[in-house]
Amino acid sequence: MDLGIRGRQAIVCAASKGLGKGCALALAREGVDLVINARGAEALAATAEEIRRETGVHVTAVPGDVTTEEGRTRVLAACPEPDILVNNAGGPPPGDFRDWSRDDWLRALDANMLTPIALTRATVDAMIRRRFGRIVNITSGVVKGPALYPTLGLSAAARSGLTGFVAVAARQTAKHNVTINNLLPGRFDTERLRANFAHAAQKAGVTTEELAERARAEVPAGRFGTPEEFGTACAFLCGAAAGYITGQNMVIDGGAFPGLL
Ligand code: NAP
Repeated sequence: MDLGIRGRQAIVCAASKGLGKGCALALAREGVDLVINARGAEALAATAEEIRRETGVHVTAVPGDVTTEEGRTRVLAACPEPDILVNNAGGPPPGDFRDWSRDDWLRALDANMLTPIALTRATVDAMIRRRFGRIVNITSGVVKGPALYPTLGLSAAARSGLTGFVAVAARQTAKHNVTINNLLPGRFDTERLRANFAHAAQKAGVTTEELAERARAEVPAGRFGTPEEFGTACAFLCGAAAGYITGQNMVIDGGAFPGLL
């Protein structure tokens, strides 16, 4: 299926690895030119080269911390008027809510709420002017099913704030063919997932592999998702024909969310 976005320009934040990389690759396979970002310059350059080699699109790598003003300014300088914006950053650490300080909360809010809001604000008016824009936020399954992820309170709270913002903003941009949606990953096989398991396994006194096996068995699909699958869903939401899908929170979790709706 041709998504009709060849030649468009996208910013994909936090994209040297994992879900962000999956989104970048899927968009590149549709012919979208990219600005990709991550803190580690070496891994970012390697990902940029991998995507160029496979797809032939133009890829600019902008190293930096997207949760800082300076990092965001550099990303926007490389692509001031993107057609597509994929917001992503590292997730907050898992833990017990009693242990989190005010600084922990501020870091989570900066990374997982205020940064995507700032980038949306910086890019959305040019999208409205051009009558095309697709904004996708990578949030988390914890927003919809917090009981499934009891150690992710920081993530749930910060991302819920972003979810509220999107619910309001998406209704204001829809008539201009600018959509804003959230993708809510369940368990995907990435470095982040493996780090979370290592933390939980240590607490539970089991091996990381044992814990991963148990978690895998809890997913109705019987496995973790792949960044490639995640990227395909993201690219679909960015497609020319997806203009009537907005303000949505799409869970991608192999059936793990137990509710009806
Ligand atoms: P990952 O495999 O650890 O990849 C994270 C990527 O983001 C890397 O490229 C990393 O590169 C970059 N990054 C992290 N912090 C950054 C920052 N401040 N500025 C710029 N780039 C940054 O993680 P992932 O699993 O893809 O997770 C992506 C997001 O989805 C996270 O917010 C995570 O909490 C959320 N999520 C993941 C899952 C899952 O199962 N994987 C489930 C629910 C939610 P550098 O470290 O070099 O910056």
